[in-house]
Amino acid sequence: MKILVIGGGGREHALVWSLLKSESVSEAVCAPGNGGIAAIARTTPVDTNNLPAMIALVEAENPALTVIGPEVPLSLGLVDELERRHLRVFGPTKAAAQLESSKAFAKAFMQRHGIPTAAHALCTTLDEVREQLQRFSVPVVVKASGLAAGKGVVICNTRLDAESIAAQMFSGTLLGEPETEIVLEEFLTGEEVSFFALCDGKTALPIATAQDHKRVGEGDTGPNTGGMGAYSTDGLLTPAMQQWVTKNIAQKTVDGMRSEGTPFKGILFVGLMMTSRGPMVLEFNTRWGDPETEAIVLRLQTDILELFNAAIDGNAQGLPIRLKAGASATVIAASGGYPGKYASGKLIHGINPEAQNNSEEVVIFHAGTALKDGQLVTTGGRVLAVSAAAPDLQTALDRIYARLETISFEGMHYRRDIGYRALRG
Ligand code: AMP
Repeated sequence: MKILVIGGGGREHALVWSLLKSESVSEAVCAPGNGGIAAIARTTPVDTNNLPAMIALVEAENPALTVIGPEVPLSLGLVDELERRHLRVFGPTKAAAQLESSKAFAKAFMQRHGIPTAAHALCTTLDEVREQLQRFSVPVVVKASGLAAGKGVVICNTRLDAESIAAQMFSGTLLGEPETEIVLEEFLTGEEVSFFALCDGKTALPIATAQDHKRVGEGDTGPNTGGMGAYSTDGLLTPAMQQWVTKNIAQKTVDGMRSEGTPFKGILFVGLMMTSRGPMVLEFNTRWGDPETEAIVLRLQTDILELFNAAIDGNAQGLPIRLKAGASATVIAASGGYPGKYASGKLIHGINPEAQNNSEEVVIFHAGTALKDGQLVTTGGRVLAVSAAAPDLQTALDRIYARLETISFEGMHYRRDIGYRALRG
């Protein structure tokens, strides 16, 4: 069968790579894809912010299944539109994707259903922000309610800072677009864990846990990025904690969405803070994470197409999810200047543009690359996701860092301490 994946980053490369391992997949198309995806699938341009263009593409390609990678097409309602046209698609509807696209919705939803999360206040004016700030201690977290590509969360050490950030969010100077709703949140401390569950509208089935590294600098310093690396091990949550999170957070979320008439189908990615009061939800994402997916697919032994089909058909309950024992990791090679201004079009050395460049031990997923006159060049802030699975995390990381030594482009930088919290023990 033919599958179409929407998106063009490291996550989509990992999804296409994983789907192609399924015996049922004979042809893969990725839109818009990137220079690395082009080595394993046909790529075709599409603007993932343009709903009519995406619908037209899916209608023209007419695949047996469309898989949506990024959050924007979900929030635009691509799944609803495809379902209306009887086109098979994996992902949540626009209403269900509100768990990610509206923090105001997600917080109120969690409150309605008793799902543990930080205390919050929803504000629509600066006066409300000033008033509500009085009941929060500092640090306090200021969040734009809408999608902000990872830039909508600011931890403020004083109320004055919080007020100033809120003012910049309302006016549009911080995020480019004016924000109409701002969430003030209690500052939580603890270890962060990403929990991924497959949801079929009725059941939440845990797939894997991972930890990502959002800050650009080693030791988790410097500005936030889309993610500089991630790893997945069995040890991130004990089996008992995994069961608790599944029952009290993921399943409660699925039950709550179903009871409200907006059943959730797709990947529920729960960003958790493991606080002294127990696990608390920092955020929901309604799709695979990037770069967590690049690490997770290397451990996944269950046919990923089976997972997608079970979610769509509502029979995920009891589906066995097999993960390779041990660990996997991914390290992002980024452009000079990222996450600030960065240059593009830099020649990438150490990778054959025509091949997959994968060994038994290391898989290279492309995030921001393109083929130009037969050569591989950088096109994004995050360029490559060099990934490996191994019996233990240290071995996986050693293999990744050895491969990274052989790759170069002008300005390339990467963190050398991915997984350090787990290795510290
Ligand atoms: P979010 O997009 O809501 O996950 O926020 C991005 C990052 O900000 C998280 O991964 C946390 O590191 C941090 N963060 C968000 N909310 C809180 C909170 N209530 N307390 C402490 N840190 C937070």
